[in-house]
Amino acid sequence: MLKEKKGDRFVTPGDKICVIEEFIPGYGTYVADGIIYANNVGFLSIDPKSRTVSIQPVSRRICAPRVGNTVIGYVWNIQTAMAFIRIFKIEKYFLSGFFTGILHVSDVDVKFTKDILDALKVGDIVRAKVISEINRTYFLTTKGENLGIILALCSKCGGILGLKSKREKKLYCEECGNIETRKIASDYGTTNL
Ligand SMILES: [Zn+2]
Repeated sequence: MLKEKKGDRFVTPGDKICVIEEFIPGYGTYVADGIIYANNVGFLSIDPKSRTVSIQPVSRRICAPRVGNTVIGYVWNIQTAMAFIRIFKIEKYFLSGFFTGILHVSDVDVKFTKDILDALKVGDIVRAKVISEINRTYFLTTKGENLGIILALCSKCGGILGLKSKREKKLYCEECGNIETRKIASDYGTTNL
């Protein structure tokens, strides 16, 4: 049952971890009917020496984005083929500062994006996934239905853009009538930060 590497798996209370024959239940776990369950919110940790499984609390672990995390940030700069994102939320935890994420045009959408400005603009709020990390720079993707822009601002007047047509991924400014495109997340306009 246990295939995860140390710390990879995020668990919540009641999540099944393994059977008692495999590992020794440690901090943040409980046993019922021979099965070890998570009793904490956190990351699964396996000590191979003692063969103990434990749950490390989130507060000690959420200090930087990790590969695989879903993050939320705002677009603060766009260059020819990439956007710079200031990440202010990792999974469901808000950060006191921010990390820099880079979204390359080839990672915007499963379909080809010619111009990154057709997919996002400075000031937009974006939900992305961390795909790699080099020297604390986090490379992001918005490929996937639930990833992409969750809130966009009109590039003419700064008003909040509403959803005009979900199918065409067109956004509409109620203030000035401007129509724009984005690589939107499937829940655009309905999500709370
Ligand atoms: Zn407008």
